Amino acid sequence: MEERGSPDGDLARSLEQGPEGPETPIQVVLRVRPMSAAELRRGQQSVLHCSGTRTLQVSPPGGGPEVAFRFGAVLDAARTQEDVFRACGVRRLGELALRGFSCTVFTFGQTGSGKTYTLTGPPPQGEGVPVPPSLAGIMQRTFAWLLDRVQHLGAPVTLRASYLEIYNEQVRDLLSLGSPRPLPVRWNKTRGFYVEQLRVVEFGSLEALMELLQTGLSRRRSSAHTLNQASSRSHALLTIYISRQTAQQMPSVDPGEPPVGGKLCFVDLAGSEKVAATGSRGELMLEANSINRSLLALGHCISLLLDPQRKQSHIPFRDSKLTKLLADSLGGRGVTLMVACVSPSAQCLPETLSTLRYASRAQRVTTRPQAPKSPVAKQPQRLETEMLQLQEENRRLQFQLDQMDCKASGLSGARVAWAQRNLYGMLQEFMLENERLRKEKSQLQNSRDLARNEQRILAQQVHALERRLLSACYHHQQGPGLTPPCPCLMAPAPPCHALPPLYSCPCCHICPLCRVPLAHWACLPGEHHLPQVLDPEASGGRPPSARPPPWAPPCSPGSAKCPRERSHSDWTQTRVLAEMLTEEEVVPSAPPLPVRPPKTSPGLRGGAGVPNLAQRLEALRDQIGSSLRRGRSQPPCSEGARSPGQVLPPH
Ligand code: ADP
Ligand code: MG
Repeated sequence: MEERGSPDGDLARSLEQGPEGPETPIQVVLRVRPMSAAELRRGQQSVLHCSGTRTLQVSPPGGGPEVAFRFGAVLDAARTQEDVFRACGVRRLGELALRGFSCTVFTFGQTGSGKTYTLTGPPPQGEGVPVPPSLAGIMQRTFAWLLDRVQHLGAPVTLRASYLEIYNEQVRDLLSLGSPRPLPVRWNKTRGFYVEQLRVVEFGSLEALMELLQTGLSRRRSSAHTLNQASSRSHALLTIYISRQTAQQMPSVDPGEPPVGGKLCFVDLAGSEKVAATGSRGELMLEANSINRSLLALGHCISLLLDPQRKQSHIPFRDSKLTKLLADSLGGRGVTLMVACVSPSAQCLPETLSTLRYASRAQRVTTRPQAPKSPVAKQPQRLETEMLQLQEENRRLQFQLDQMDCKASGLSGARVAWAQRNLYGMLQEFMLENERLRKEKSQLQNSRDLARNEQRILAQQVHALERRLLSACYHHQQGPGLTPPCPCLMAPAPPCHALPPLYSCPCCHICPLCRVPLAHWACLPGEHHLPQVLDPEASGGRPPSARPPPWAPPCSPGSAKCPRERSHSDWTQTRVLAEMLTEEEVVPSAPPLPVRPPKTSPGLRGGAGVPNLAQRLEALRDQIGSSLRRGRSQPPCSEGARSPGQVLPPH
């Protein structure tokens, strides 16, 4: 039955506020062992009396003043091992360890006061002889409870154990496969103090754990002296590592680290002893000195931890291996239970009082329990750090890429800045612009092809009309039926017609295409009926109006002069033809002969665009029609009687 006022309830209440809760004092339980048979034989009296469940009264022999000490629980000699186990609230510690806390149970007291007995029961009666269940100590009972508890948990739990002793300030692995050898104690930021190369053994059953315990106990140093026939000569630390691996959890990040999770550590300290009282000599005396030195360091740390200014003061945990390994339990993030063991014998009163004062101070030491962060909790922070690193690397690479692009393409400063901001955006813009230009180019190519076709058709029509016009002129000058028409009218256009079309030199009287003699076209001296595109050197220094076009046949001697003036219609014909050839407006240099205004529309003039060809064609048709009409209606007239609108008769 659980006692009222046991530390179990207080501890639970103090930790209910969560891992980051308030500071929690070290829980201290006092156990008074019964008088041994030897003490009773020597007639020694008990000087300790329990008052209630939490107070111990010390009655010095000889009638001195009584001293009372108050602890979380005080267990007199009549209490069984089971009572002690229940009163200590070790099950609560086990629950906390399952939740990830680091919990420590350690016994403290004078040698022979019952520390080892409280933790592991009486010493084994022989090799392989188990401790009777009723006498099993806190450790065996906790093991049994823990294994049973784990079996009823929903999530799988991994259990491991290590067991070491600190003997003469050397850490030895009690579970090592070979003979125990000194192991170094290290420190790092995440783990604090730890023993390097310590063997951690996984176990899955109570039997396996008990076997580990027995192995360690059998290898632990013990000796007999006056006060204890099986005196522990070393501090022993058995630690159970509890890993609850849920579906979301991941394995430990660093394979060198121990499993992340709760810890339950049992510390069986070697007892302080007066060498004179124990009669230790030689090696025993050296061991006693070493034990006392480490216990002294532990007491010193506890005293400093009680200092209100302790946060500013240095706690000398490094003074001994023991204080190093108990640093987290005493002043760190662990949950700690101290079981102070005392002997009731008056002969041990000085050491008992020392232990009581020591335990009283210890229970005022506080820790700040905190469950170690699991890899799951670390994961977001780790991922966030990784993400930031990758983002930074991404930015750096993008910047370098932008610089390379800018050097290659010589982009402007504003564009460089924009590209640095968004390289992908720049790429998209180029792609869109490319696509737009492709479409535009395709449309322009289609328009160009259409215009070429139209131009070709119109050019063919113009050419046919030109030949008709020439033929009509020829007939008009020669008279109908006198001379056969130009053969080019009857045959497909020879290659020469692909050249700039007909350009009748008024001085040559020959069709420049088919070499048929043409009508005598009079032209005024110095009249510009050709565009100003001819090479003046090629013309032999003559004025442009007087020289023939380059493709015209050479003029025959004696015909350099045009004896007759052109009529207005002749001039118009020539001009229209010239404009068709050159696709430029022909401006007469001399006053033309516009007796009547020309019928040419403004659309015929200016601009060389293909659409004008249709209008020019229409105008040409009109010209041909009017010429033919005039030729039919008017007979050839004499030079003196001709009108400006008449076509000149041949010579
Ligand atoms: P310590 O470890 O403190 O030096 P031990 O645990 O070895 O002392 O105990 C010394 C002796 O006293 C042992 O023989 C042990 O069996 C006995 N003893 C200690 N406590 C009790 C107890 N509560 N009931 C019966 N015997 C005890
Ligand atoms: Mg012991």
